[in-house]
Amino acid sequence: MTPPAAGQASEATETSTGTAKVAMDPAFAGFVAQMREAALASGVSARIFDRAFAGLEPDPEILALLDRQPEHDSGIWDYIDRMVSEERIALGQAALIANRGLLDAIEGFYGVDRHVVVAIWGMESKYGGNAGSRNVVRSLATLAYAGGRRTDYGRTQLLAALRILEKGDIAPERMLGSWAGAMGHTQFIPTTFEAYAVDFDRDGHRDIWSNVGDALASTASYLARSGWRSGETWGYEVTLPAGFDYALAGTREAKPIRSFMKLGVRRVAAQDFPDPDRPSTLLLPAGARGPAFLVSTNFRAILRYNNAVAYGLAVGHLADRLAGRGPIVQQWPRDERPLSRDEREELQRLLSASGYELGEPDGLIGSATKAALRAYQRARGLPPDGFPTIGLLERLRAEART
Ligand code: CA
Repeated sequence: MTPPAAGQASEATETSTGTAKVAMDPAFAGFVAQMREAALASGVSARIFDRAFAGLEPDPEILALLDRQPEHDSGIWDYIDRMVSEERIALGQAALIANRGLLDAIEGFYGVDRHVVVAIWGMESKYGGNAGSRNVVRSLATLAYAGGRRTDYGRTQLLAALRILEKGDIAPERMLGSWAGAMGHTQFIPTTFEAYAVDFDRDGHRDIWSNVGDALASTASYLARSGWRSGETWGYEVTLPAGFDYALAGTREAKPIRSFMKLGVRRVAAQDFPDPDRPSTLLLPAGARGPAFLVSTNFRAILRYNNAVAYGLAVGHLADRLAGRGPIVQQWPRDERPLSRDEREELQRLLSASGYELGEPDGLIGSATKAALRAYQRARGLPPDGFPTIGLLERLRAEART
């Protein structure tokens, strides 16, 4: 799921706080009273609210996490290496075998490839092994109370969590998850749970915490409703011919695979495209020096789960590996040090000062920044891949000095 990022938050480092009872901070008491009113207006009974909040105090570990400096920048290749590790592949293949009958049923009902469902399970909670052990109401109440820029998120999710308790899907003490309120095998945040979770075994409870069938069917349900197309793959690794126009990787408009084939785009390892008419877009996640992919509708369905290209590629690649396909063939530019946020902002300021329009510099490389970078690269006779590098930053700095 997509809770807001913080530091290197890791459930593996969790400890129970076990602090001695102290009188409730009056400001927190005021917050609870206000939330109680909002919850009751949102359809939550006083009984459920009071039970969920009995003896509840903010989680000091979450407050400490929020103060920590976020983002140690690393390349997409480090993320994919970590997420698609040999261990995660082996555990996933064992999970496919252990849950074969269940996966037959889920795949039959939702039409979503089991390898993708299991890959998401592996990415989100390591197949249930790392689903988080914090009380979700407490975590979200902490964010809603003192979460800085996560306050609104915390409040919205807290009200949704309380409504889930009201429906009786899970008992308050069993509603466990990450510090950001991502819950169970699938790491659904409460609003996603409300919209997409299903009771696959029809026992009256949508239990993504301890029922693998409910959890995996909920993931399949989410993908199906995000536009998953049955029988299609997410995408292919491809090679580009010498002299390829990298600007073609910049468009969001999908074109049939056939039109890329005409330009010399091929699948790796001399494989054929089984579906040359499928609309696809070209993705160069690490610029011209890294691997290339043609991705289609199902890739965008995965991005609905978590809107980050790195996440979508890791899920797609892990799914391929679970299905017995090979590793990514082309090399990543591992010698590239990813730009820090300050460096990305500097790059944006320098581009802007050179007359390339990209809006207010914010350190985020979005489509406007990429378009400006491509225009700059084209003007300098460089491959217009829109990928920010230290080399480009240094070049812009040198030009600014002259
Ligand atoms: Ca159930």
